[in-house]
Amino acid sequence: MAKGKINVSVENIFPLIKKFLYSDHEIFLRELISNATDASSKLKHLSSLGEIKGDIGNLQIEIKIDKKGKKLHIIDQGIGMTSKEVTKYINEVAFSGAEEFLEKYKDSGKDTGIIGHFGLGFYSSFMVSDKVEIITKSYKDEPAAHWECDGSPEFSLKKTNKKERGTEIILHINKDSKEFLEESKITELLRKYNKFMPVPIKFGTREETLPLPKDAKKDAKPKTQTVDNIINNSSPAWTKTPSELSDEDYKNFYRELYPMQFEEPLFNIHLNVDYPFNLTGILYFPKIKNDLNIQKDKIQLYQNQVFVTDNVEGIVPEFLTLLRGVIDSPDIPLNVSRSYLQADGAVKKISNYITRKVADKLNSLFKKDRKSYEDKWNDIKVVVEYGMLTEDKFFEKANSFALYPTTNNKYLTFDELEKNIKDNQTDKDGKLIILYASDINEQHSYIKAAEEKNYKVLLLDSPIISHLIQKLETKKEKISFVRVDGDSIENLIKKDEDIVSKLSDKEREKLKPLIEKVIPSEKYTVKLEPMDSKAMPFILIQPEFMRRMKEMQQTGGGMMGSFPEMHTLIVNTNHTIVSQILNSKTPKKRENLINQALDLAKLSQNLLKGEELTEFINRSLKMVK
Ligand code: ADP
Repeated sequence: MAKGKINVSVENIFPLIKKFLYSDHEIFLRELISNATDASSKLKHLSSLGEIKGDIGNLQIEIKIDKKGKKLHIIDQGIGMTSKEVTKYINEVAFSGAEEFLEKYKDSGKDTGIIGHFGLGFYSSFMVSDKVEIITKSYKDEPAAHWECDGSPEFSLKKTNKKERGTEIILHINKDSKEFLEESKITELLRKYNKFMPVPIKFGTREETLPLPKDAKKDAKPKTQTVDNIINNSSPAWTKTPSELSDEDYKNFYRELYPMQFEEPLFNIHLNVDYPFNLTGILYFPKIKNDLNIQKDKIQLYQNQVFVTDNVEGIVPEFLTLLRGVIDSPDIPLNVSRSYLQADGAVKKISNYITRKVADKLNSLFKKDRKSYEDKWNDIKVVVEYGMLTEDKFFEKANSFALYPTTNNKYLTFDELEKNIKDNQTDKDGKLIILYASDINEQHSYIKAAEEKNYKVLLLDSPIISHLIQKLETKKEKISFVRVDGDSIENLIKKDEDIVSKLSDKEREKLKPLIEKVIPSEKYTVKLEPMDSKAMPFILIQPEFMRRMKEMQQTGGGMMGSFPEMHTLIVNTNHTIVSQILNSKTPKKRENLINQALDLAKLSQNLLKGEELTEFINRSLKMVK
């Protein structure tokens, strides 16, 4: 028997470990199971090299709770360790690793985001244990070893008579960590961290109902048998190649990842690279609703099939955090803070790769079956538009698959749109005026008016659309987006030169102050315009620029204070009501007509509410009488 002192300069390393990792101490189990998995993989590798003769059997890892003895056992059938190896790997190497770790991160201890992802390996078991034992038998023909340490730097190491190859770790769970003696807690942890680990993990047994034999009597009860309760799927879909998987397999895996999710994904993207970095995974496009935030953070990050986190911020571009699925890469450094991650070369490459793959997939879906892609557009547009807005490379690629739906359900690419409206919607400076609506009901009268002139109107209703429009206008030359109820629509209206004004200049001069007297000048700028006599008498428009800035502010990215609510009131001098205003017999009658025309303009934009609406109804009733 050997006795000794662990060679470590930080005397109180255990209290430190406990303190540092307090908020995340459950990761001890993940660390120990990772070690057990490594030991099993190493054994398989040696066997495949022929260095181990004979059958190594079906390797398994077992977790056992001994409630009475307050112990938790982690047992593997891997390569095991000789006494010498225990001394080397457990006493020396691991300790220096832990020490180095603490030295490096002692200032950032509060940022659990860092610590939780950095495995402290075997020593994390002391976070939950008063004492830890290792009983291990190497695959080599040497006696088994029994190591014991009670959390002080003292350890003992002696021979023991374990016969089977492999390692058993015994944790004597401390009184603050009793929860780890509960079956439900361990099940929860195994499901969270080890659901897809490559070696089967057994936790207890379960009863399995056997199918009834064909000749069974009617009232025969089915027999049950006791089987190992294996908690993991050791070959999850992302570790296979796409050719091995059917559509149904991908859907099944989605269900496995998100058992509470009843809606099927729209399509998936299989990721698989091994140079210049290693990455596998499957991303799914779910149906994305307009509310962005609640849908983020569903992608799970693994390293060699060990769950690490479901926060992939900084690893995939922000717009892709709306997707779901799994990314598995051992090349993502997790021992640095998130803000450093983005600057990391490997991570940048990974992020670019994923972005490219997503763009390629969208492109091929569009090319292969445009109709079905169009059907999905409403459910994926937020991701595509978000990507266009935030990633320049994606913006360029998206030119071939981003769609611009019209108010009558045609889905055009940008180039098609350009071609379509070139003749009819170019202003006098040669600028292409792209009309759009954000709400088909609220802007109905404007859409109708535009359509009557044979203008194409797009329906752009995503929450970030004003940002994207702004970007499109700077990236593409000579275009201007104008909402159907926006002010720049005048540029087009003015083209109707064949419309003659029914009012003389003198009459117009008289009309303007009459209207301005009734209408509050701090809210409206009055403009007279001869329009089609069938158009509304008054039309309210909001300066495009101001409205857009306001919207951008609401969805983040604004830089200025609040904007005043300002509208331009266009008076259609060709409308009969406007002539009536001019020729009213009494000021009261005139005021009524002006207010009525203004309210109608507001009503058509869904701006008439509350008291104003009641007033309008009362006034209308009186007028009808
Ligand atoms: P790491 O796993 O990061 O190397 P650990 O402290 O977890 O650090 O483990 C140190 C070493 O001890 C491992 O590299 C391995 O050689 C050995 N070891 C730990 N657990 C086992 C095990 N279950 N079977 C065989 N060897 C093990």
